[in-house]
Amino acid sequence: MLRLTNTLSSKTEEFRPLEAKSVGMYSCGPTVYDYGHIGNFRTFVFVDLLRRFLRQSGYKLNHVMNITDVDDKIIRNAAQHKLSVRDYSSKYEAAFLEDMNTLNLQRPEQLVRATDYIQQMAKFIAALEKKGFAYKTDDGSYYFRIAKFPAYGKLSKKDFAGMTDGARVDVDEYEKDNARDFALWKSPKPGEAFWETEIGPGRPGWHIECSVMAREFLGDSFDIHLGGEDLVFPHHENEIAQSESLTGKPFAHFWVHCRFLLVEGEKMSKSLGNFYTLRDLLVMGHKASSIRYLLSSVPYTRQLNFTLDGLKQAAHSVERLRNFKLRLETGKFGEGSSPKFAELAQQTIAKMQAGLDDDMNTAVALAAVFDMVREVNAAADTNELKQGDTTPLLSVLKCFDEIFDVIRDGDAEKSRAAMEWARSAGKISAEQAAALEHTLSDAQVEELIADRNQAKRSRDFAKSDAIRDQLAEGGIILEDTKDGVRWKRK
Ligand code: AMP
Ligand code: ZN
Repeated sequence: MLRLTNTLSSKTEEFRPLEAKSVGMYSCGPTVYDYGHIGNFRTFVFVDLLRRFLRQSGYKLNHVMNITDVDDKIIRNAAQHKLSVRDYSSKYEAAFLEDMNTLNLQRPEQLVRATDYIQQMAKFIAALEKKGFAYKTDDGSYYFRIAKFPAYGKLSKKDFAGMTDGARVDVDEYEKDNARDFALWKSPKPGEAFWETEIGPGRPGWHIECSVMAREFLGDSFDIHLGGEDLVFPHHENEIAQSESLTGKPFAHFWVHCRFLLVEGEKMSKSLGNFYTLRDLLVMGHKASSIRYLLSSVPYTRQLNFTLDGLKQAAHSVERLRNFKLRLETGKFGEGSSPKFAELAQQTIAKMQAGLDDDMNTAVALAAVFDMVREVNAAADTNELKQGDTTPLLSVLKCFDEIFDVIRDGDAEKSRAAMEWARSAGKISAEQAAALEHTLSDAQVEELIADRNQAKRSRDFAKSDAIRDQLAEGGIILEDTKDGVRWKRK
């Protein structure tokens, strides 16, 4: 039984969906005004791990993620660049979708753009006004009247008694203690984009977007709402106020928030020079699989301290897993099998699932797999491991990769694509790109080894030595064993 930490109750609770075996889930998506940074992707990777684990646990999933393609920052940047909102945001939306692929993030069942739901947002606001929860100001903007919603503060556990009725805030993001009536709809300012709707011209506030898109696809009440911890207040508090005052029903049952990513112990910020986009790391030569691994390795309930050293260790861990899989697939073992390894395989899967069931404790799941790798490698070294043992052990890796998805290799292609992007966007020179582009994929390594074997058979030792050197340059170590050639990464 899965347990999750619910911000609403401040408890780690058993997760029971509203409908047996099917889960409705909403995660706040990116604001597409720039390239995504690794803090954003920490949260998105966590969402991906949870969605994969729910599916592996037998749930049918309806996962909705929005793309915020209109908000204060986008409107401001689009106006600065003299572009329409769509022309400005579409570049970053496309980049986000590429980045999702880079990190093997599965597409949610519904990936929806805010600007495609503007009329529904206006309708929602009109209904709030009719019920007395929203009011219009002289300039044609609409605000939510928080004094009408006594439960305001129940998610962020803030006591807003004594606040000034009618005080307003019209920016999408604001300080924690600033309880004010917040903007649902903003009337157009000169030179800014707006939409014509039944409540007049303007654009939606950020919070209403998520209330509307969640209701559109998941109904009045649904199971899980996700986001990074910074969204608890005001964004999610405001979503609850809007949705529950309209429907009179509980909005999301579980509110699950991913703790922040820090860099070298500090809050990531451009001014501190510790700010990395996903693309920055790829262009520095780091692999997509190492980044995904590192972002997955710390449970969402703990802050993740990102370091470049940690990224190197993550690369090493991924290599161990890949080499282990290769050994099981290509090693020559004696005939037979022993129940010991089938049992080990079963126990490992059970431990992995128990770890994830326990509030998505990825660290426990990873430890279970590495314990197995250690034990089986030792057994293979002493010839205790038999050919028949490899099948159940390989099925553990398959089950593992259904969630973690780091063993299958696509790193070289992804690095190449990132270099291509960096070169065409003028981020690096052609020479820099060529120097960085040395990663060999598993398939390329195997092909080179096959060529080398062929060269040796035809006694072309110059060629076989040249291939060995090429592999060494790519960080591949060859071992000629009695069973043939084995390879591993440095
Ligand atoms: P945004 O594009 O700013 O709307 O953010 C997208 C997601 O990234 C949200 O769920 C944020 O809570 C999350 N996020 C932003 N910064 C960090 C960080 N440093 N660590 C973890 N999650 C973050
Ligand atoms: Zn949201």
